[in-house]
Amino acid sequence: MGEFELIKRYLTQAQETLPESVVLGVGDDAALLQPDCQQQLVVAVDTLVADVHFPAAAPAEDVGQRALRVNLSDLAAMGATPAWFTLALTLPDTWSANQRREWLQGFSIGLQAAAQLYGCVLVGGDTTAGPLSLTIQVMGQVPPGQALRRDGASVGDFILVTHTLGDGAAALAHLDQPDTSSYLYERFYRPTPRLGEGQLLRGLASAALDVSDGLLADLAHLCHASDVAAIVDVEQVPLSETLQAMPIEQSRQWALSGGDDYELVFTLAPERMETLARLQAQGQIQATVIGQICAGSGVHCELDGQEYSPARNGYQHFS
Ligand code: ADP
Ligand code: MG
Repeated sequence: MGEFELIKRYLTQAQETLPESVVLGVGDDAALLQPDCQQQLVVAVDTLVADVHFPAAAPAEDVGQRALRVNLSDLAAMGATPAWFTLALTLPDTWSANQRREWLQGFSIGLQAAAQLYGCVLVGGDTTAGPLSLTIQVMGQVPPGQALRRDGASVGDFILVTHTLGDGAAALAHLDQPDTSSYLYERFYRPTPRLGEGQLLRGLASAALDVSDGLLADLAHLCHASDVAAIVDVEQVPLSETLQAMPIEQSRQWALSGGDDYELVFTLAPERMETLARLQAQGQIQATVIGQICAGSGVHCELDGQEYSPARNGYQHFS
């Protein structure tokens, strides 16, 4: 089976099952999309390289799930609603035709499951031979002027984070002997893009981003963009039960400096806290205050009223 047959077989949806916004999907020279004219288009792209972002031997279905979820997290962080995505795949030329077929089959099951769950449709891509890697470009929509940006935080705003932090890094530390049924494995390969939360925070949060490189590193980006500083109370950073049961220093380091959590960090003016509390009580969002924005620059941590220096500042490529 040739490359195009494989794609057609595993990655293409019948035209009649596609939403109206896809005039033409996979198969032509390019896709033809009909965006909602009342909305702004939100576009993000991310590459996952084998043995950098996931183990090359990882189950293909898990890789498919993770690849799309991680990309959708960027749309969540903008407050966008997902619509379409494209996929550039590089498959090893050292693989036999059988290996390629098996991998693509598993991968497409994971990818399409995530696509359906979050309402995002594959509309095109590219397939090449080389070291295993995949690039996904996601496209979504947001009402004009309502996207969540990094540059809106003001002095006095509270800093909040959704759900818990540190699970991604803890999972990564255990990936060489994974228990594929464990909570941490699930959190690594099926991170939840906080799309509902992001949409809810439109018009409410002053700034937001998703935690991919580590809380402190990502929060530093927000502070830089907003020209402010942040104080984080380390004790308030929410940890899962799994991380609470591990040595606290290690768990804290994972939560502060580890990456791969894909939770949202956002800032909220004090007068908006009441609205958030109401949404929280209704079960529409789960978020914890972890600190406050102040004048100055950089991110500062406190523990028991003392300055706290975490060991490492988050993941950076090329460092
Ligand atoms: P071209 O040479 O015109 O770029 P390709 O052979 O690269 O055409 O692709 C043919 C069709 O298959 C295009 O519609 C393209 O979007 C789609 N396609 C190729 N690779 C993928 C992929 N990995 N996922 C989804 N669609 C793909
Ligand atoms: Mg092409």
